[in-house]
Amino acid sequence: MTDQTRHSLKELQGLDEEIEAARRRVSEIDERIADVEEPALALESEVGTTRNRLQELKVEERRTELAAKEKAARIERLDERLKGVRNVREEAAVSAELEMVRRSLESDEQEAYSLIDQVRKIGLQLEEQESALAQAQAEVDPRREELEREKAAQQEALADLRRSRDEFAATVPEREIRMYEGIRRGGQRQAVATLTADGACGYCFSVLPLQLQNEIRHGADLIRCEACGVIVAQPSPEDEDESGGDDADAAAVAAGETSDDVAAAEANDEVVEGASEA
Ligand SMILES: [Zn+2]
Repeated sequence: MTDQTRHSLKELQGLDEEIEAARRRVSEIDERIADVEEPALALESEVGTTRNRLQELKVEERRTELAAKEKAARIERLDERLKGVRNVREEAAVSAELEMVRRSLESDEQEAYSLIDQVRKIGLQLEEQESALAQAQAEVDPRREELEREKAAQQEALADLRRSRDEFAATVPEREIRMYEGIRRGGQRQAVATLTADGACGYCFSVLPLQLQNEIRHGADLIRCEACGVIVAQPSPEDEDESGGDDADAAAVAAGETSDDVAAAEANDEVVEGASEA
């Protein structure tokens, strides 16, 4: 079972790394969508502000026109009263009121003209902004749609990865999953590393005690690096291939320096055995 263990946790970690990368790709697309939408959103906000301003002006204009109409009616009534006054004092009073209402009406009419002019100008401004917005949206839409499609594809890939991961995790012994998850929950993304050819942890490169190196090379599972805590796994045949000549040389140098020729030779023998088995 150890043979499967040493590969299964690494494979699980590989899947988790792929999931993390896929999640990053989705959020990168979200950022790009936000960038693409940004200019149109700014115009949309401008259009909203102008539209509100226009609405306010129209209400104000109607209010002023209504006030002017009421004053015109009041002037008519005062004109009638003026015809029926009984004495000079009453005539003076009605005339004074009439004069006051006329001045107020004039001022209302002026305000109404000014408002009509503002409504016209703001209306034109709104038209310009709306056309700029329509143009921006026409430019944004195809790019956003393209990004949305890309995002949907990435999300699907992410869901597939999560499914594969869950299916795979179900085949890994509970004890191993618990240790693996525990290390990752501790904030360390990498939970499994391969023993290097020179007997170091493949994550922090601290050299492991010879006894542990041997146990790992003999396929013992769930041995952790004393320095960084990752599970150190036996190198798989692919790892040996990847490391190539450089690491073998480095191992020879390291072995020479530590003059631990016996251990190095033993280690090399196992590497060869492992390779020929595969
Ligand atoms: Zn380590």
